[in-house]
Amino acid sequence: MRIAVIGAGIAGLVAARDLVDAGHEVVVLEKSRGLGGRMAARRAEGDAVVDHGLPVLDVPPGGVLAGYVVDLAADDVLEVEAPGDPVPGRAMPDAPRLAWPQGMTRLPKAMAEGLQVVTDVRVAVVRGDGDMLELGQDQGNTLGAFDWVVVTAPGAQAADLLDTSPRGAVRASDMRAVGYDTAVMVLAGVAMDMPEWFAHRPLTGPIQYITNECAKGRPPEGGVVPVVARLDPDVSERLMEESDRAVLGEALPALAKVLGKAAARPAWAQVKRWRYSTTRDRLDQEAMNPEWTRVLVAGDAVAAGPFMEDVAATGRWAARRIIGA
Ligand SMILES: Cc1cc2nc3c(=O)[nH]c(=O)nc-3n(C[C@H](O)[C@H](O)[C@H](O)COP(=O)(O)OP(=O)(O)OC[C@H]3O[C@@H](n4cnc5c(N)ncnc54)[C@H](O)[C@@H]3O)c2cc1C
Repeated sequence: MRIAVIGAGIAGLVAARDLVDAGHEVVVLEKSRGLGGRMAARRAEGDAVVDHGLPVLDVPPGGVLAGYVVDLAADDVLEVEAPGDPVPGRAMPDAPRLAWPQGMTRLPKAMAEGLQVVTDVRVAVVRGDGDMLELGQDQGNTLGAFDWVVVTAPGAQAADLLDTSPRGAVRASDMRAVGYDTAVMVLAGVAMDMPEWFAHRPLTGPIQYITNECAKGRPPEGGVVPVVARLDPDVSERLMEESDRAVLGEALPALAKVLGKAAARPAWAQVKRWRYSTTRDRLDQEAMNPEWTRVLVAGDAVAAGPFMEDVAATGRWAARRIIGA
């Protein structure tokens, strides 16, 4: 069978790998240039690597994620000493918190090896065409015909696709209603001694948490410590459309209160915005994928819980539905 997986985040990559292992022909279509979705890393000034999406990966032993880490990305993985939960309620109890010196995309990149992944392709339409489903782009060109499609985009983006699919309107409106926090992230290089902590949650002010990216096996260069500050959800919502200057004007003084005055004038600073970061609520995956459909939804909007392991499990669920059909 020919299957398209939309999205190269963790849910899409798990689904794709399971389907390929079961002997199916799979194409992963990803709208951005990179792999991993919200498991995201970038090179900032100099060679500093910063994770500007998911800060660490909680991996419970024996789960879906643990299998991939052990098989594909174990040689350089490190466990981060991170007591507490940077994002309230998002630390999985008793699960090791893992990271990679070269960034959180290390695992998704390894998972994508050997798969057919096409990046820079935004799927806009899922048409029913006889027995097959045809995918198309905004410009009207077709991306091919498939027996099954697995959509792993965040709720509202998945809803836009479902709206175009056969009998997709009801599921689309459910997916559109899934709540997400927006997250404005400030990435900064601060000339200071490396903090002892990995993550710090200020009790007041606009910052939800700060991570010390050096704690992930990335020694400071020239005395500059790269940090990532996630702004509080309400502050993020308010600043989402504002200029980088406005964001930094609010964030840097708050950062300086925690890190010292060097943070008010960092060596470098960047802003990254996530319209959809972490879910506030979720839908039941089984209910969202009725027996009659060949357009399956997976990803965090339909995860059984708030953790990455739950997200990964949605990819496995979608693959099993197809394999068992
Ligand atoms: C700042 C931040 C902090 C977070 N912290 C935590 C945490 O502490 N703990 C936790 O458990 N989770 C956390 N999360 C959430 C976690 O990262 C996500 O739940 C998880 O990565 C979602 O994986 P996914 O595969 O469902 O979706 P994604 O990773 O979003 O993957 C979906 C992919 O689909 C692509 N896509 C979308 N639409 C289209 C289209 N039309 N055509 C082609 N491709 C498309 C996207 O580009 C994306 O790559 C955080 C997220 C952010 C941003």
